[in-house]
Amino acid sequence: ADDFEYLVSKIRTIPDFPAKGILFRDFMPVFADAKAFSILMHAMEAALPVPVDQIDVVAGLEARGFLFGPALAAHLGKGFVAVRKAGKLPPPTKKESYSLEYGEAAIEVESNIITEGQRVLIVDDLIATGGSARAARNLLQACGATIAGFSFVMELDGLDGIERLGDYPTSSLLRMP
Ligand code: IMP
Repeated sequence: ADDFEYLVSKIRTIPDFPAKGILFRDFMPVFADAKAFSILMHAMEAALPVPVDQIDVVAGLEARGFLFGPALAAHLGKGFVAVRKAGKLPPPTKKESYSLEYGEAAIEVESNIITEGQRVLIVDDLIATGGSARAARNLLQACGATIAGFSFVMELDGLDGIERLGDYPTSSLLRMP
């Protein structure tokens, strides 16, 4: 319990960033602190939504899923797949477009990075509406992956992001307004 409080103490909350009305959660101090980073890895392992032997690979969303996704993958003894913003990866790639609150976004993975039937754990720092995680789910499924589950560090309350992912094993360490 003390460990958990220590971890939470390293997450900064900044009002009106990057735009007015947004309460920004900053995880950078967690990664800068060896103890907090280690607590995060162990807490995510303990909270895995499925047993570790039912996961073949961890997929992380750009950009903050790239901060702890590879660390978690290494901690679990798994590989890591990068789900990038469109236009960054060399061809051949597969792409998925999705709508944001304002406008459209698109993500890509390399076409042959996943082998058919590989069981993928999708990770990100934070789930709000779930739009990004749903797009990653669709994209990885289109690549032949089986979705093992989702792991988030934080879930924003009241947006039903996790409910809107569909019927998959999911965990989040923290729930915040
Ligand atoms: P969603 O697609 O609405 O679930 O938004 C989740 C994505 O947006 C994640 O990749 C987060 O990193 C980012 N995000 C959304 N809201 C916040 C916030 O309040 N603080 C930090 N990141 C956020």
